[in-house]
Amino acid sequence: MPVINRVAALSDEIAEWRRDFHQNPELLFDVHRTAGIVAEKLRAFGCDEVVTGIGRTGVVGVIKGKRGGSGRTIGLRADMDALPIEEDTDLPYKSKVPGRMHACGHDGHTAMLLGAAKYLAETRNFDGTAVLIFQPAEEGGGGGDAMVKDGLMERFGVQEVYGLHNMPGIPIGSFAIRPGPMMAAADRFDIVIEGKGGHAARPHECVDTLLVATHVVNALQSIVARNVDPLESAVVSVCSFKAGDTYNVIPQTATLMGTVRTLTEAVRDLCEARIKAVVEAVCAVHGARAQIDYRRGYPVTFNHPEQTAFMARVAAEVGGDQAVDTGVPPLMGAEDFSYMLEQRPGAYIFLGNGDTAGVHHPKYDFNDAAIPYGVSLWARIVETGMPAR
Ligand SMILES: [Zn+2]
Ligand SMILES: [Zn+2]
Repeated sequence: MPVINRVAALSDEIAEWRRDFHQNPELLFDVHRTAGIVAEKLRAFGCDEVVTGIGRTGVVGVIKGKRGGSGRTIGLRADMDALPIEEDTDLPYKSKVPGRMHACGHDGHTAMLLGAAKYLAETRNFDGTAVLIFQPAEEGGGGGDAMVKDGLMERFGVQEVYGLHNMPGIPIGSFAIRPGPMMAAADRFDIVIEGKGGHAARPHECVDTLLVATHVVNALQSIVARNVDPLESAVVSVCSFKAGDTYNVIPQTATLMGTVRTLTEAVRDLCEARIKAVVEAVCAVHGARAQIDYRRGYPVTFNHPEQTAFMARVAAEVGGDQAVDTGVPPLMGAEDFSYMLEQRPGAYIFLGNGDTAGVHHPKYDFNDAAIPYGVSLWARIVETGMPAR
C-alpha cells in the first residue's frame, strides 16, 4: 500500500491548516493559538480524550481502536513552535508576525499529525490506543522534556513513541533513518578568563587576557583532534569571543561561548572533562584564571533498533522500497524528541522535503507535497503496529 487514498483526499485540507500555522508562528512555550487550534480540531475529529496544558502548552489527543482501546498504546509526536527569524519569501501565506517564522517545518509536522488524527478517528482500523502528542518549545526550550516531566508516558500508558522531521535535500516521498544515534547531544559552555589588564604599551606588567583566550580557543580544538577516538564523532565550536574595547588597553577579562555535539555519553563525558582541564591548564600557564560553566542540553536522539526496523518497514510500504535510506549518517544537530526516546523505545525518521532551502533559513518552506507521505506513515504505524483482529 503506498499513500492511503483517504489521506491523499485530505491533503489539501491539511495543507490549509499548515498554511494557517505558517502565517501565525509562535515561539517556544507561547504556542497558545496553535495549541488551541490543535485541541479544537482533535475534539471536532472525535478523539476519545483531548488534554491540554501538558508541559505547559502541550496537547495530547487519544484515539481508541475498534475494540475500545484494548491492546497496545503507541505515541506519535509533532512539534508546534517556530523560530525568531525574519521570513524572506513572497509566499501568499508568509508569516504575519515580524521576526518570527516557521523555518523548521513544525507547521507541517503539526498539520500532518492533525491529519493522521482525523483519519484515525474516522477509520479506527486498529486494536489499541493511539496517543497523539503535540509539544511546544522544540527549538531550545525543552518542551519534550517538560511533557515527559509532566507524566506524559505514564498518564497515557505510552509503550512506544515515534517522531519525524522533514528534511530538505531528501526527495518528496522518500525517508531516511538509522538505528542508534540519529541526532547529537547538544551542550553549551561559557568561559570567563581573567588576566590582569593594563596599558597596552606595558604588557610585561599585565597578564594579557586576550592572548590567553586565543591560546584557549586553539587548545580547545585539540580535544576533537587528539582526545576523541577518530572513529567516534564530536564537535567543539567556540562561537563567541569577547575581549577589549579600545586600541591601547589590555583587557582584564575575556569571555568565550560555544557548543559541544556528541553521539555517545562516553564521548560527551570526555569532552566536558577535557574542556575543563584544557581551559584551566592553559590559563594557569599564563597566570590567568578561568571560570567554566558547562551546561548539558538535549541528550542524544537514540533510535531503538527494533522500532527503527519497524518504522523503516512502514515507510517502505508508504514510499516504496527504494524510498527508504536505512543507513543515513547521524546529524550533529539536536532534537528534544530525545527526551521521549529516553523514556520509551521508539524511533525518529526524516521525511523528504524535496529541493528547498535548508531548515532555519529565511527562505525555507515546508513542502506540502510531503503531506500525504507523512500522514500515511503516521496512520500506517498505528494500523500496522496494532493490527485490527
Ligand atoms: Zn529547528
Ligand atoms: Zn525542527
